[in-house]
Amino acid sequence: MILDGKKVAESVCSKIVLEVSLLPVVPKIVFIMVGDNAASATYVRSKTKKSQDLGLRSQTVHLPTETSQEELIALLHDLNRDKDVTGILVQLPLPSHFDETKVLREIDPMKDVDGLHPDNMGRLFSGDPRFVACTPAGILEILKFHSIPIAGSKVVVVGRSNIVGKPVAQLMLMNDATVTICHSKTRNLDKETSAADILIVAMGKPKFIGSAHVKEGATVIDVGIHRLGDRLVGDVDFESVEKKASAITPVPGGVGPMTIAMLMKNLVGAAALRAKG
Ligand code: NDP
Repeated sequence: MILDGKKVAESVCSKIVLEVSLLPVVPKIVFIMVGDNAASATYVRSKTKKSQDLGLRSQTVHLPTETSQEELIALLHDLNRDKDVTGILVQLPLPSHFDETKVLREIDPMKDVDGLHPDNMGRLFSGDPRFVACTPAGILEILKFHSIPIAGSKVVVVGRSNIVGKPVAQLMLMNDATVTICHSKTRNLDKETSAADILIVAMGKPKFIGSAHVKEGATVIDVGIHRLGDRLVGDVDFESVEKKASAITPVPGGVGPMTIAMLMKNLVGAAALRAKG
């Protein structure tokens, strides 16, 4: 079975439209982009388009590469104070002279719709989530939408980034899976991954995971996204793994659309929290 992220994203977005209609104010998201990273520009364009499609307000602030960390933080503080702004997203990666951890810490946690502020990460890891990082939240949604059992399953996550690996492992744990996290120092990776009922791959290595890494009948979630010539591919070698897996996300059209949908869901959630006071 192909796990169609576009279909799940449409289902999430149709609920968002309904929720927005019940809010006193149309939520507004501000995207901040620093420098001229082509991939970041594409991501911000896609997020802007999705906000528009859903009738949400958005604004992009594009700062030059030579912007200082102090200037960026001052902008974040202004946006934190601005009552018209519901959500703030700093598009990563930032140019190398920025300390991303320090920058993300300056976003008001109630406007942190990307779910990367330590306050929101800490809440997730203590079992009381507010805004969950969008890609992990999207992966959970794909699994639930397709009724793939998580409780009691063995989930193996390849990758331990703050954006994907760690939070998705925690979400699986919260849903009663038995979770293993692998990384670049893991010995015998294929042995670990072959034990997975659900294998989630977020390693940033094109087509690295082949059929020898996968158990017959496993569910495989491919987070990776890479341009190879004129094609987009994931971290999983789709053609060989598809034959062995019982369910697999394609690239494109798998996890990617879910990331944007969950961002919009967090934005509407931020507006609803504020409306409650
Ligand atoms: P990072 O580079 O931050 O993390 C990669 C992780 O993979 C690290 O933990 C690293 O281990 C681990 N890793 C690298 N090589 C190996 C190896 N040979 N064996 C085992 N583990 C390994 O990446 P991200 O988590 O940010 O992103 C991962 C991928 O997902 C990228 O392709 C990215 O573009 C994509 N992505 C896609 C999104 C979407 O919406 N579809 C959203 C976010 C990311 P170690 O910690 O030891 O270095």
